[in-house]
Amino acid sequence: MARRKKIYEGKAKILYEGPEPGTLVQYFKDDATAFNAQKKDVVDGKGVLNNRLSEFFMTGLNNIGVPTHFIRRLNMREQLVRSCEIIPLEVVVRNFAAGSLSTRLGIEEGTPLPRPIVEYCYKDDKLGDPLVTEEHIAAFGWASQQDMDDILSLALRVNDFLSGVMMAVGIKLVDFKIEIGRVYEGDFQRLVVADEISPDSCRLWDIETGQKLDKDVFRRDLGNLTDAYTEVARRLGVMPKSAQPMSKPTLIN
Ligand code: 5GP
Repeated sequence: MARRKKIYEGKAKILYEGPEPGTLVQYFKDDATAFNAQKKDVVDGKGVLNNRLSEFFMTGLNNIGVPTHFIRRLNMREQLVRSCEIIPLEVVVRNFAAGSLSTRLGIEEGTPLPRPIVEYCYKDDKLGDPLVTEEHIAAFGWASQQDMDDILSLALRVNDFLSGVMMAVGIKLVDFKIEIGRVYEGDFQRLVVADEISPDSCRLWDIETGQKLDKDVFRRDLGNLTDAYTEVARRLGVMPKSAQPMSKPTLIN
């Protein structure tokens, strides 16, 4: 059997050459990392859940006309995606203060922000993905002004969509990170939402209890990560059949 070609291996995913030109197979691992991989573990089932959840969010975005790299899910851990050139920026959108924003500016976690705040970080693990401004992005040629206008518009559309979807199942979208890719079509390039959208890259809090249902459970040792992600998947109705909780035993009279 021929071995397929590995294009790239990251902390949580592997990219393989796809079956047709311009496609890749994106494989979701169970590895969990935080604090620039200083904290590491293997979380059974995380890859399966993130594959499903990313499929759900990316399909929803495609359906409302927000272009993404997602083509279709292939199996429990893999999806077929369009190959794209990743812009070396992490685009973060925040609705409530949390994480590095709270630390940096001394704003209490959970404080509602007056409007969504969009931040850019330069994707470089060695540097710890530092926060950068549009001045840096333009000066170092990571993206053009037209790209930045398109990225801002995409980020805010993703925010509106995800906020609504999560609110409908009793979850507050505190913040999230997306990555943007360039897809070339003849002489033209189009920007698409790439990578993944999952509880690994979002902060999700239960509206009633404030319970964290995202990777902060792992980062801050708050409990079982798979349980948290399974709860998100269950509420969205995308839990794989095999992961359905066992029904309680019932007495047969
Ligand atoms: P913060 O800047 O507060 O650490 O993160 C803001 C949001 O972006 C959080 O939802 C966090 O999960 C996400 N995020 C930031 N950097 C990364 C990253 O390198 N990987 C992933 N998966 N998510 C990130």
